[in-house]
Amino acid sequence: MDNQSRILIIDDEEIVLDSCKQILKGSSHKIATAMDGTLGLSLLNEFHPDLVYVDLKMPGISGLEVIGKVHEFDPTIVTIVITGFATVSSAVEAMKNGAYDFLPKPFTPDEFRLITQRGLDRRRLVLETIALKREKEMLREQFAAIVSHELKSPLSAVQQNLYFLMDELSGQLTEEQIHKFERMKIKIDDLINMIHTWLRVLSVDVNKIREKFKATEVKSIISKSLESVQPHATRKDVELSSSIQEPLGLVNGDEGTLVEVVVNILGNAIKFSRSGSQVSIRAEKVGNEILISVSDQGVGIAKEDIPYIFNDFYAKRSDQIAEQSSGLGLAIARRIVEAHDGSVSIESELGKGSTFVIHLPSLKEEATSGS
Ligand code: ADP
Repeated sequence: MDNQSRILIIDDEEIVLDSCKQILKGSSHKIATAMDGTLGLSLLNEFHPDLVYVDLKMPGISGLEVIGKVHEFDPTIVTIVITGFATVSSAVEAMKNGAYDFLPKPFTPDEFRLITQRGLDRRRLVLETIALKREKEMLREQFAAIVSHELKSPLSAVQQNLYFLMDELSGQLTEEQIHKFERMKIKIDDLINMIHTWLRVLSVDVNKIREKFKATEVKSIISKSLESVQPHATRKDVELSSSIQEPLGLVNGDEGTLVEVVVNILGNAIKFSRSGSQVSIRAEKVGNEILISVSDQGVGIAKEDIPYIFNDFYAKRSDQIAEQSSGLGLAIARRIVEAHDGSVSIESELGKGSTFVIHLPSLKEEATSGS
């Protein structure tokens, strides 16, 4: 937004339009006015305002409808309603529908200038936030490209050559040489797995996940996740148990990525458990939410660490646990859950264990019976 902000004023009272123009005369802003909603909306394309004042009570198309149409055209345009004292409650209604503020009639020049400035500041902030998000997204994409081309491709070539070499030399190697080759193979496999995890966290695209949304059974998410982590639990001698409180219902979501979340949280529960202990998963419907809780009797998480464990690359090694960690599993899980309009909460006590609860909005009955 340049210094010349564009302000559109839609009001059926000529005196209001004239006073607004008069007050802003001499400022650097560009002003356009319209005496009804239809005329105002027809100016959007050409004038592309930063701020739109809309009178709530006008003949023809209503102020509320105008606000809706302005936001349909460009959700970043700031709208402010102009209203008489008697209609303050409808101004509140308009703000619930996306208007940023309201200007009660009659107004003084100072009031109008102040509200205009606040509206324009708001618009600047909205645009800056969008630009920052875009920049962050571009950095992610660049990082993904670097990781992929500069690290993954050469490492995969090394891995391939190593496998060939081991095959060619088989029969000629001493025990010690075989051991060294095996160690190289494991290290390279670990590095490639880590790069895959990095690429996964960079490629979690909320919009793409949402495109796959459909009515999904939570029961099926849980059984698929349990099946996936069972070998890990068996290797570690951790007992898995599950309890599902019927009727559980459905969520509007993408089964594949939700299974990824539950597998991750169950995987952590197993990873941070001692041999011989138990990990349990429970699902229940509470109000409008479906809760999936995963509890372990493992090492627990210190209170001061809890706010950070969902951050990218946050990993804390435990003296008692010697398993691989990337610090990205929960970061990926959080992005996926948030794409489902859900959240994850944690209760934990050091040395005693942790409970991770995934909260997902449950699908309303009518939404499931329709299709
Ligand atoms: P990773 O498990 O690869 O380290 P995550 O993002 O999945 O990465 O987890 C981040 C950190 O959160 C872990 O390093 C660990 O310190 C902590 N954490 C996660 N789950 C548990 C758990 N069930 N018990 C104890 N600590 C946990």
